[in-house]
Amino acid sequence: MPSNRYPTLFSPLAVGPVTLPNRIIMGSMHTELEGRPGASERLAAFYAERARGGAALIVTGGCSPNAAGRMSERGGVLDRPEQLPPHRTVVDAVHAAGGRIALQILHAGRYARHKDLVGASDLVAPINRVKPHVLTVPEVEQTIDDFAACAALAKQAGYDGVEIMGSEGYLITQFTALRTNNRTDRWGGPYENRLRFPVEIVRRMRDRVGPGFIIIYRISALDLVEGGLTAGEIIAQAHAVEQVGASILNTGIGWHEARVPTIGYMVPRATWSFAAKRITAVVSIPVVVTNRINTPEVAEALLAEGVADLVSLARPLLADPEFGRKALEGRADEINTCIACNQACLDFMFREEVATCLVNPRACHETEFPPGPAAKPRRVAVVGAGAAGLACATTAAERGHKVTLFEAGNEIGGQLNLAKVVPGKEFAETLRYFRVTLSKHRVELRLNVRPSPTELASGGFDAIVVATGVTPRVPDIEGVGHPMVMRYDEVLSGKRVAGRRVAVIGAGGIGFDVAEYLGAPAQGDTPAHFMEVWGVDRTGSVGGGLVKPALQRAAREVTILQRKPAPAGKTLGLTTGWALKAGLAQRGVKIITGAQYVRIDDQGLHTLQDGKPALIEVDNVVLCTGQESARGLYDQLVAMGVPAELTVIGGAEHAAELDALRAIDQGMRTALAL
Ligand code: NAP
Ligand code: SF4
Repeated sequence: MPSNRYPTLFSPLAVGPVTLPNRIIMGSMHTELEGRPGASERLAAFYAERARGGAALIVTGGCSPNAAGRMSERGGVLDRPEQLPPHRTVVDAVHAAGGRIALQILHAGRYARHKDLVGASDLVAPINRVKPHVLTVPEVEQTIDDFAACAALAKQAGYDGVEIMGSEGYLITQFTALRTNNRTDRWGGPYENRLRFPVEIVRRMRDRVGPGFIIIYRISALDLVEGGLTAGEIIAQAHAVEQVGASILNTGIGWHEARVPTIGYMVPRATWSFAAKRITAVVSIPVVVTNRINTPEVAEALLAEGVADLVSLARPLLADPEFGRKALEGRADEINTCIACNQACLDFMFREEVATCLVNPRACHETEFPPGPAAKPRRVAVVGAGAAGLACATTAAERGHKVTLFEAGNEIGGQLNLAKVVPGKEFAETLRYFRVTLSKHRVELRLNVRPSPTELASGGFDAIVVATGVTPRVPDIEGVGHPMVMRYDEVLSGKRVAGRRVAVIGAGGIGFDVAEYLGAPAQGDTPAHFMEVWGVDRTGSVGGGLVKPALQRAAREVTILQRKPAPAGKTLGLTTGWALKAGLAQRGVKIITGAQYVRIDDQGLHTLQDGKPALIEVDNVVLCTGQESARGLYDQLVAMGVPAELTVIGGAEHAAELDALRAIDQGMRTALAL
């Protein structure tokens, strides 16, 4: 059933003897399930759900062709037939679900987090501490053979193909770029020598696996590091691997050590498509475009424009395994959109925790939370339509409970309505998803209503979930009632900040978000502006694709303050916080730590810094000083002794460190326990 709205996305594509039913590839993501007890069953359920949901071809997380190439001590290796059974479990599940799956073969090189790491040279990676052992010539030859042998084993396991990880700064890129290759033998020096490593891998692999088996080569389409490749060199690499047997060229953007964000929410959608387009223009095998493609509209537009032949969706399929099916069936408004926050996928993975998704906490926990109706439908009241209440109400209704959702405001969303206006944050998509899901599962939504404890107690509910959220904390500072002072919720809900000089009190996630909101470019961010301010070259003539960033004019002079002497921003996302802070620093935002607040008056904010008085002359002060639980209703219900099962969740339960991740996770788990 071809979709009229996305005709290119849902057109078939022949790759050798294989015909893919649509243009959606599930991009490789490490889940941290790999190597844990019971991993193959959990991975099988995870991937099979995505195959059923419409991914034409799935690429697994990276698996090393030998022990030296593992990402970490626990990292997966495929170099012996005895290791095949868990792979077969995954492959069989995907095939039973009607999908196809390729194993990603990744040699970490100098990025490996174990002591036996190897590299093209002995140069230490800026994101690692250990010096790599330089591969000798026989070891280079052996590593190439290991790649080919690993692909042969993957074929034996039943995989439909493999993906060779030739981007992101791993071993292959460490050979191709002068930045990391200072060899003087036939594997270093002129580009034709540095190119020999990937070319030999593809050539020997094709010889081992024969025709018909899919070999995807993931090429670094833009290195974003000094000493990286020019567009001409990248194109030469694309041609070379095509000639020796690659079936598809996937694209990767930026090495892991790059200081330009490549997938975080601050990167506008489809920013990097120009890099894939350069390759598509010159090769005859299919090319895949990737990074920040999170809606079927964006995917369709890129394919229809001829940017590439396939789209790679990785995080968007964590967020919604049924992305493809919903788009195909004309239900794109039901897609739970990836908002590129990285909070539960990459941030978890870097902490070596099992990845999941902020908007879909079932991701990677499919076996723990099987879908299906509740044993006994119940009448459920959820009070509060913020993140926690929405997750609870929608999950409960999906499971067949009869849900009434009360909201005191005139719209759903709670704190998400504030977060959605922060530049780059796509919570408006999350709210659209919740709105559509509430309606689809016939949740009775009662806006502008604050139900009394008596009404709830006499409402005939079997269960009452209190999700009444938080109220912003107003600190006890002299002059806090001055007209120049505003709370963050007032600012983010549209109250005008008239002054040019602003002090933000509180350096938590919201303090930084408010600083970003106050200083953001008036025109909103576009790919062209993003590239200017991060110094990305689009001409292709500069190695690595980096030029001097353009100076940014700040819309306001902003100073963020906190009382703690520790560095500010410790609670920001692991993989996005650095980019947020770097962007603010470029715009001249100042950060003061260890401040004591003395008084606010017409002159501005009077502080003590290192015990000495310091006046911060500002026109406005914005309070971002945390929240307190709004749990009065819950306490009253407890005091009354209501007969219904009573639960309190989200900020109403515990305000400190509440974020959308905890709220949605707790809301879903509460609903599953009903
Ligand atoms: P928060 O992280 O607790 O930060 C509150 C800030 O206010 C702190 O810097 C604190 O620093 C200061 N503060 C607290 N009490 C104060 C008082 N009485 N007087 C003066 N200063 C006071 O809270 P938030 O920024 O409101 O964020 C709420 C939650 O949302 C957090 O869990 C946060 O991580 C999350 N969030 C996350 C993101 C993200 O991008 N991941 C974005 C936004 C929000 P001092 O005590 O040192 O002064
Ligand atoms: Fe996307 Fe955030 Fe979910 Fe990761 S955690 S998949 S970035 S929505």
